[in-house]
Amino acid sequence: MAGAYVSNMAQYNKMYRQSLDEPEKFWGMMSKDFYWKEMWHTLNEVNFDYTKGPVSIKWFLGSKTNLAYNALDRHIEAGKGDNIAFYWEGNDDESRAYTYNEVYEMVCKFANVLKSKGIKKGDTVAIYLPMVVELPVAMLACARIGAVHSVVFGGFSADALASRVADCKARVLVTADGVMRAKKLVNLLDIVDNADKILKADKEANHKLDSIIVVERNSKAGPLKEQHEPWNKLMAGASADCPVEWMDAEDPLFLLYTSGSTGKPKGVLHTTAGYMVWSATTFKYVFDYRPGDVYWCTADCGWITGHSYITYGPMINGATQVLFEGVPTHPTPARCWEIIDKYKVNQFYTAPTAVRSLMSFGEQYPEGHSLKSLRVLGSVGEPINPEAWRWYSKHVGRGQCSISDTWWQTETGGHMITPLPGATPQKPGFATKPFFGVEPAILDPDGKEQDGACAGYLTIKRSWPGQLRGIYGDQERFEKTYFQLFNGANEMISKDKYITGDACRRDKDGYYCITGRIDDVINVSGHRIGTAELESALSQFEHCVEAAVVGFPHPIKGEAIYAFVTLEQGYEMTPEVQKALKQVVRSEIGAFAAPDKIQFAPALPKTRSGKIMRRILRRIAAGVTDVSEFGDISTITDPSIIDELLENAKHAS
Ligand code: ATP
Ligand code: MG
Repeated sequence: MAGAYVSNMAQYNKMYRQSLDEPEKFWGMMSKDFYWKEMWHTLNEVNFDYTKGPVSIKWFLGSKTNLAYNALDRHIEAGKGDNIAFYWEGNDDESRAYTYNEVYEMVCKFANVLKSKGIKKGDTVAIYLPMVVELPVAMLACARIGAVHSVVFGGFSADALASRVADCKARVLVTADGVMRAKKLVNLLDIVDNADKILKADKEANHKLDSIIVVERNSKAGPLKEQHEPWNKLMAGASADCPVEWMDAEDPLFLLYTSGSTGKPKGVLHTTAGYMVWSATTFKYVFDYRPGDVYWCTADCGWITGHSYITYGPMINGATQVLFEGVPTHPTPARCWEIIDKYKVNQFYTAPTAVRSLMSFGEQYPEGHSLKSLRVLGSVGEPINPEAWRWYSKHVGRGQCSISDTWWQTETGGHMITPLPGATPQKPGFATKPFFGVEPAILDPDGKEQDGACAGYLTIKRSWPGQLRGIYGDQERFEKTYFQLFNGANEMISKDKYITGDACRRDKDGYYCITGRIDDVINVSGHRIGTAELESALSQFEHCVEAAVVGFPHPIKGEAIYAFVTLEQGYEMTPEVQKALKQVVRSEIGAFAAPDKIQFAPALPKTRSGKIMRRILRRIAAGVTDVSEFGDISTITDPSIIDELLENAKHAS
């Protein structure tokens, strides 16, 4: 692509080699994009191997900087204060633009509000807000004064909120009264008050909130009560002058809990300098963001995607972006395409679950729009099945856009394996190549690193700047989860690499395809089959909206395959449909991979970030009917789905 930061593979290869062979030089060059109060003197100090001492990760030692300064003051000083930071689009027909100057003023004022509540460097602030501008503002206000933010997605229940507030020991909570999500009013105040009660009653947690600051977004949630302090009133009394707190490289920036797809969420800790460099550098290269572009990420700031690719990466790059409060299907499935045309969006970043959902409404929605401003289409959160990839590329990208299937995690802070638009030749279903500084290693079941084309456990051999620094308050869980890999016989097979928990395949061109979680590989009579592959095959059946596959114990094969399939409205799971679905898998993968059981799923159980919770499906497939045996279900969107699935399980065949 002409004019891209990296315009061909030769250039990518050269930069990638340099990032591994001469990291000091490479990161020295990349560091020039930021303001450093004090420059770093040592690139990193890392120990992954617990037998040599506690696992520890430090980057850019000796530096002092501040992310809010890099995201705001620096652009304003460069004369870009009138540039638009956010085009905010509400759930219904409200919208408003905010310049960098305006955001700066809000951030300074709110930082002073936090100080007036006794918040100082190192204290934690919980944020539980919908996608209003006050959300990134509150995050940046924390960063400005060195407070640690812990954002909890505004769709979580009172229990989930209370447990996160207690875990991170936040004394101040920033929230809103209510918000419309599509046609439904979400009464955040009720949830917050319940969480507050739960905290007060929980003797063991021994923690309570001192202040609850409320953004008045939707008065239908009812009037504020005595314990609620209105945001606007506090802001009106606050000074817009707030000096920056210069932070050491490893001072904590935020805590964020993972999605909970595989188990109890982990409080992932990110720190200052490394996270800043990683989020901003990946943003610039992976979206090929150039001055004047309009970028839109549909994620919520309650997830890592919203942290790295709304609040930090784009703002540190001085980007103009759309901030969207609503949902992609409201008021109609054309909403995203309307917004793209309205603001002439150049980069659009969303999740496979959204693509699949929009795809199920048909191509007439994107087709009715120009969409010609689009240059890069991103995907994140789950493997994107080739069927959805092609639809996205053809009907949204009109065959003219780069598709960036970005593989990364809350723990990695930013993109790890991803195409670079304009440089990386594409392959549907492949996250393609590692980003600069990322050195993957694929391990076999004995922990041995494999060469060339292969499949196995995805690990990362060396540290990168955006790597998590710990699980809050739990060094042991941190070391066990991310740096020790065990085989089926419970023998340790790796202790000196970062363990991603994902499985992956590398082809002869050195392209990586994420095949699912390590646990999502099903071993049928010795054939190791990734669930992602099976689900892609099932998705080819013309009336299939979405499919999820898990293994269940089988006396002869070891494991057998169980598929949950959501069909288009009006289609039933008849024996003919079950037969046809099995046939698709036979012809796409092979007879050995045909599901043993298929059941209808009115919907799939998903985390609030839209990921399929296979651990729940695994229990259903194994015949568990008692919901108390389903593990932590606090992150599921709709618990009633479990009952419906259990009911339909009776007709699996
Ligand atoms: P938990 O760790 O609590 O189980 P989670 O892993 O879903 O939750 P996140 O950090 O939000 O929490 O998600 C990271 C995971 O999402 C990755 O490990 C991977 O399994 C999946 N993922 C993200 N992006 C992609 C992608 N482009 N392709 C394939 N998988 C992806
Ligand atoms: Mg995870």
